[in-house]
Amino acid sequence: MKDTVLIVEDEKDIAKMIDYNLKKEGYKTIIANDGEDALDAAITKLPGLILLDLMLPGLSGLDVCKELKAERKTASIPIIMLTAKSQESDKIVGLELGADDYVTKPFSPRELIARIKALLRRSKEKEKLPEVLKIGGLFLDFSRIEVTVKDKPAILTSKEFELLKTLIKAKGRVLSRDYLLDNIWGFDHAIEIQTRTVDVHIRTLRKKLRTEAKRIVTVKNYGYRFEYED
Ligand code: CA
Repeated sequence: MKDTVLIVEDEKDIAKMIDYNLKKEGYKTIIANDGEDALDAAITKLPGLILLDLMLPGLSGLDVCKELKAERKTASIPIIMLTAKSQESDKIVGLELGADDYVTKPFSPRELIARIKALLRRSKEKEKLPEVLKIGGLFLDFSRIEVTVKDKPAILTSKEFELLKTLIKAKGRVLSRDYLLDNIWGFDHAIEIQTRTVDVHIRTLRKKLRTEAKRIVTVKNYGYRFEYED
C-alpha cells in the first residue's frame, strides 16, 4: 500500500490541488496549513513523506524542517520543499538542514508526483534491511521469513512477522498503534479491526519471542518501539 504524504501549505487552493492529485495516485494525505500543525501532524502520524512549503505564516518552512530533522522520531522522514523562484537562498539552507529535494512553484502535478515517487523509492532503498539480522539472541532471516530465538525456531504468523519487521525497521523510533495498524493491516482495514488488534498481536509475538520479548517495549498510551540494546 502507498505511503501517507503530509502536505504543508497555507495556500488552500494549492493544498487542495496537491491533495487531489496525490489521492488520485493512491496516496493517503494529511494537510497542515501552518508550521505548528505540520510539526504536530508529523510527530503524531509519522507520514512517509512531507511536502513542505517554505513560506508559511508563523513558524517558517525552514524552522519546521530544522525541528523535524532534530527530532529522532521524524528525522528520517523525507522532505520535499515547495519553493518560489525568489527563494533560491532558502532552498539551499533547506537542503543544508536536511531536506531531500525541492520543487519550484509553479509546478505541474505530474512533476511533483514523479519527484515524490523517486524520493520514496530512494528512502526505501536506504532503509532496506539486510537479508539476515542478529540482535542478541534473536536471529531473523527476512527472505525466508524465519525467526529463531536462541537457536530455536519461533513460528510467527505473517502479521506477527510484519509487526516485528516494522518495529525493527523503525530503528528504535516509537511507532503508534495507529501507524502500525495502517502499515500492517492497511488503512482500508475492516471496521472491526481496532487499535486493540495491535496489542493482541504484540502479546502473542512477545510470547513467541520468549527471552527476547523484552525488546518490544510498550510506550504507554502511544505504541511500541524495538530495543536493540541488551
Ligand atoms: Ca505559502
